[in-house]
Amino acid sequence: MIDKKKFYINGEWIDAKGKESIKVIDPSTEKSCAEISIGSKDDVNNAVIAAKKAYESWGFSSKEERIKLLENLYVLYKKRWADIASAITMEMGAPKDFATKLQAGTGASHIKSFIRYLKEFEFEKPLGEHAPNQRIIYEPKGVCALITPWNWPMNQVCLKVIPALSAGCTMVLKPSELAPLSSMILAEIIDEAKFPPGVFNLVNGDGATTGDALTSHPDINMISFTGSTRAGALISQNAAKDFKRVSLELGGKGANIIFKDADPEAIERGALRCFRNSGQSCNAPTRMLVEKSMYDEAVERLKKYANDFKVDDPNKEGDHIGPVISETQYNKIQTLIQKGIDEGAKLISGGTGKPSGLDKGYYVKPTVFVDVKNDMDIAKTEIFGPVLSVMPFETEEEAIKIANDTPYGLTNYIQTQDPEKVKRVARKLRSGMVDVNGAGIAVDAPFGGFKHSGIGREAGAEGLTEFLEVKSVGGWN
Ligand code: NAD
Repeated sequence: MIDKKKFYINGEWIDAKGKESIKVIDPSTEKSCAEISIGSKDDVNNAVIAAKKAYESWGFSSKEERIKLLENLYVLYKKRWADIASAITMEMGAPKDFATKLQAGTGASHIKSFIRYLKEFEFEKPLGEHAPNQRIIYEPKGVCALITPWNWPMNQVCLKVIPALSAGCTMVLKPSELAPLSSMILAEIIDEAKFPPGVFNLVNGDGATTGDALTSHPDINMISFTGSTRAGALISQNAAKDFKRVSLELGGKGANIIFKDADPEAIERGALRCFRNSGQSCNAPTRMLVEKSMYDEAVERLKKYANDFKVDDPNKEGDHIGPVISETQYNKIQTLIQKGIDEGAKLISGGTGKPSGLDKGYYVKPTVFVDVKNDMDIAKTEIFGPVLSVMPFETEEEAIKIANDTPYGLTNYIQTQDPEKVKRVARKLRSGMVDVNGAGIAVDAPFGGFKHSGIGREAGAEGLTEFLEVKSVGGWN
């Protein structure tokens, strides 16, 4: 078992003041693979003090200095790519190939992309030709608390740490206590890249202790959080007391609208996007709405596809899915699958229990329910497992109504060959993102949700400005 009990504060790895610790569990073996400390109020306070002190100079650093350090970081990240991928496989069970290409890969893509946006960004500009002495200045928001989940660890951490560094903010990162190992490698990389001490700090711990101490600390100016809608609401209450800026990326229950003129791969592609990462993606299309005239065909195709879908050990190469993150998550998924059966949805593949031959590890069978009603629990709850709910629709209006009938609004999907229908439907869907015919959302396109899916946007130019305050100066000559 690896000892990872130190925190990275003020440019050094130091012992935790808190005495409590948590074991990190490898979900493919159910055994602990590392031990981390739980950051106490004192640990959080020390990290915030370091970040506040570092802000005095980093907050006024030049764009050129920040670009140079970020370019160092990008080179070093690529050198440690394989270590990051292995850590992700161990901490959250993403299979080897998926962890390398996508999980670790998205981190690298975000670093590269933010360097580009930073180079282009104008931190000071005139209001316009009509008002030459009016200056608009973009300034860093200050000391940031960055709190992330376990499902796409490097993606989510890089979507916060890199724009915060780019903007000139200083920060305390608290990664998920379930998957902290890849973030600790990133801390080593930041150290090696020679960012000034205190600019980046990492404190591990759980939400109730460390997360709460961080989000209620009076010297935190901004909280950027990705995780559950439940925790997002609690964090917002802490932030409201002293008007901390808040950016929230929360849950989703995406609808995938399959019209009868969809391309030939749309059904299988939709199921793959639901099952990928063992169903643990906030933007997964977990509700498949199929136009009635092709519903029976879709059900047959889904049955075959899901029954053939491979689940296996994440340490093996291949395009299978691995286990889900934890025993708690496994049990939650089992309860919801049983709920679907009890509610009267028709199970055509998967179901409760583990896939055959995988008795150890939190493995879940790829599961498809058909004839689901949108008011059933399986259609309303973010299951966060490889479970697809399929339902028919008759008209475009009905499909839009079902898709929007959820408190969430992160990503919806449209499958049709009719470009006019794409535009009509995309405009009416109440979500931050709409993915059409498998095109995907670009790495630097604004990422975020409507309604209970969050506040604010990450990635690209929008993701950088999240970390900036706007100041107007009149009389600038
Ligand atoms: P979670 O809310 O339990 O935990 C996320 C992080 O918040 C962890 O670091 C945790 O320790 C911390 N936390 C929990 N309670 C806290 C509190 N009261 N105060 C401060 N910090 C607290 O979520 P999770 O189970 O780790 O992640 C899964 C959730 O994340 C899903 O709902 C998923 O949809 C969502 N998610 C959203 C996006 C997005 O961009 N919209 C991306 C990925 C995941």
